[in-house]
Amino acid sequence: MSSPKFDLLKPPEEGSAIRPADGRLDVPHDPIIPYIEGDGIGPEVVSAARRVLDGALEMTYGGRRRIAWFKVKAGREAEEDYGELLPEDVFKALRHYVVALKGPLTTPIGGGYRSLNVALRQTLDLYANVRPIFWIPEVPSPLKEPWKVDLVVFREATEDVYAGIEWSPGSGETRKVREFLEKEFGVRIRDDAGLGVKPISEFASKRLVRKAIAYALDKDRRSVTLMHKGNIMKFTEGAFMQWGYEVASEEFGNRVVKESDLWERFDGKMPEGRLLIKDRLADNMFQQLLTRTDEYDIIATTNLNGDYISDAAAGLVGGLGVAPGANIGDYLALFEPIHGSAPKYAGQNKVNPSAEILAGAMLLEYIGWDEAANLVKEGVKKAIEAKEVTYDLARKIETASRVGTQEFAERVIKGMGT
Ligand code: NAP
Repeated sequence: MSSPKFDLLKPPEEGSAIRPADGRLDVPHDPIIPYIEGDGIGPEVVSAARRVLDGALEMTYGGRRRIAWFKVKAGREAEEDYGELLPEDVFKALRHYVVALKGPLTTPIGGGYRSLNVALRQTLDLYANVRPIFWIPEVPSPLKEPWKVDLVVFREATEDVYAGIEWSPGSGETRKVREFLEKEFGVRIRDDAGLGVKPISEFASKRLVRKAIAYALDKDRRSVTLMHKGNIMKFTEGAFMQWGYEVASEEFGNRVVKESDLWERFDGKMPEGRLLIKDRLADNMFQQLLTRTDEYDIIATTNLNGDYISDAAAGLVGGLGVAPGANIGDYLALFEPIHGSAPKYAGQNKVNPSAEILAGAMLLEYIGWDEAANLVKEGVKKAIEAKEVTYDLARKIETASRVGTQEFAERVIKGMGT
């Protein structure tokens, strides 16, 4: 497939495109990877992450594998240079090159896009928001046993109350919907209520759970928990759970075991090499994450539950500066930190680049370069263990010495070599 014609961007002359192939990716030894630096602290953390990734690749593969980086402007930088926050070329580049690294983008206040991030996710149909949550030794945590946290949350990202189907109190739309509900179904809603719609479809639920189970099997994880509030919202949250179990049994057969079958068929003992599929009510899930932390592994859930649980879980292991994430579609994947553009710290070489660096490690794993990904994670761990950290961690770790963003990246690179 030849490169698309770009109006504004210029891809690198070296390197080749990753190609989707029968449910997997065909990755060349020199993939072209677009990167969006983003706004605020974005350029600093992205440059730190690229340095670390390049270092890890050199150390792991000695030049046999490398990334051909392709700078793609979006956000404030694109607006200044091209007069648009998200030019069509950005979408073209991401569609063609399939896998990309991204810094945070500021959400413009006022007209235009609701959020550039939402626009990217919706236009590219990046339906799975994936957040690995694990503890790094020395990072302050409110838990007594933070080492027990090792989760990956798969959050459905296109539906639920986030679909944006809402009408304000007193509006003509709200009145019409209210009258319709009363006339057709005898449902009474107060005159001064706002209204929202929560669509949860079989298609979107199944593709999300399918991705979570495939990931869990591929990475030899122990269980997938379907988190839902189906006791109250039976036909949305409850249906999500039902469809999740259907995908598990219809598509993964005897590679998985349902929790209900564990006692009935296997006397409570998990058969070797199989994946446990269970479900938990959302409220219980929050409690169990604190009280039975190590019983949870992969969590697959709807959009709103996923938003809450992933931030709560990230808080258990040190918060925003160290939490990476990804937005993934059938093949397309955009890796980014969970934090935003923190504009008040922009240009100060101050913030923690760990989340962006770990997002880069996720990217390497996604393209199958696991050895290099592990080296990056090891480097971050060693830098933090050595207590040479950025301000956010330095203020919480006794006896830590404080370093800047780029110096921290150097410590990570140093840590990878030892
Ligand atoms: P934020 O940028 O995440 O910053 C909130 C606070 O989190 C910072 O003041 C800082 O806390 C801490 N923090 C964030 N990143 C850090 C890092 N790398 N190292 C250390 N500390 C870090 O959230 P926000 O201020 O609500 O959002 C700013 C803009 O970012 C908004 O326009 C928002 O829409 C956008 N945003 C974008 C994305 C995305 O692109 N995916 C995600 C979220 C938000 P202290 O000051 O307490 O140290």
